[in-house]
Amino acid sequence: MRIRAALLEEFGAPLQVQELDLAEPQAGEVLVRLAACGVCHTDLYTASGADPSGYAPTVLGHEGAGVVERVGEGVRDVTPGDHVVTLFSPQCRECIHCRDHRTNLCLAIREQQNQGHLPDGTTRLSREGEPIRHFMGTSTFAEYTVMPEIALAKIDPEAPLDRACLFACGLSTGLGAAINTAKVAPGSTCVVFGAGMVGLGAVAGCRLEGADRIVCVDLSDERLELARGQGATHTIKGGADAVQEILDLTDGFGADYTFEATGNVQVMRQAVEAARMGWGLATVCGVAGKGETLDVVPRLLITGRRVAGSSFGGVKGRDQVPEFVDRYLAGEIDVDAFVSHKLVLDDVNRGFELMEAQDGIRSVIDFA
Ligand SMILES: [Zn+2]
Ligand SMILES: [Zn+2]
Repeated sequence: MRIRAALLEEFGAPLQVQELDLAEPQAGEVLVRLAACGVCHTDLYTASGADPSGYAPTVLGHEGAGVVERVGEGVRDVTPGDHVVTLFSPQCRECIHCRDHRTNLCLAIREQQNQGHLPDGTTRLSREGEPIRHFMGTSTFAEYTVMPEIALAKIDPEAPLDRACLFACGLSTGLGAAINTAKVAPGSTCVVFGAGMVGLGAVAGCRLEGADRIVCVDLSDERLELARGQGATHTIKGGADAVQEILDLTDGFGADYTFEATGNVQVMRQAVEAARMGWGLATVCGVAGKGETLDVVPRLLITGRRVAGSSFGGVKGRDQVPEFVDRYLAGEIDVDAFVSHKLVLDDVNRGFELMEAQDGIRSVIDFA
């Protein structure tokens, strides 16, 4: 079929919305009609050429939600008409990682996905016979996409898809960092560095886990206000003094849990230094630049602080994304506050401009 999609033709150049061919879903694959897709930093990172593993041409986009249109042979868990959220982090439920509760890093299709291929090593996207590689196994800046069944979370059809799409990446990453990776205990003190999509999700996750005090650190007053809306009890203007301010707030000890959601290694260091002696856990969610390292004084670790990393919030997507969507529908998570701009596909580059200007939290492309 012919579809319209936003193609990254060359790094550093605007995406081009054009017509491509999309082949029918093969065994284990699903054709999804996209209804909405968030514009995420990772899309911009790849488009800029900064990501050393990036490739072009490709169709970007990985924060998608839509409706199942057709299924390939052997697909059992979704049927046409089902509402789904796309998962760049799949869950096959069979590999050694999927069968272990300690990680969400499914191994089933990792290599093929990193190369821009579907699990059988080919692509469904093409242009005049030339194969076009998929991005993050999703390629959701498009009217339709073909994805493996194991990379789709079936959600309650009551959930508006222009909200549900945020659970495909940033929001689940933040929620999961607090709920899965840190396992925040009720009554605790938490600090979240960075009030973008991931950081605000972490604030919401700490609140859902019953944290007593939630401190959010950011440079923008506007974002700190949003953090209050998600449950932050204290806000701090980011900078060199942030750690001292946190120590002052906690009788000199530091927080039970800290979260870093900026990708800045200096801030990661602050997250470790702001964690409490004895048991403080610093969870790193941000993606640092290539070659950057985290500088930590070993004494901080000897005296009981721990550092954890969190990819997609440790979320096993097919199981937990539908649960998060249910909690949103139950009124426990305020997703509306995150959607700052609605765009049509042709304005996808505007989404990147807004992100670079730090205007709002999320632009959502509406395909309706
Ligand atoms: Zn993302
Ligand atoms: Zn797996």
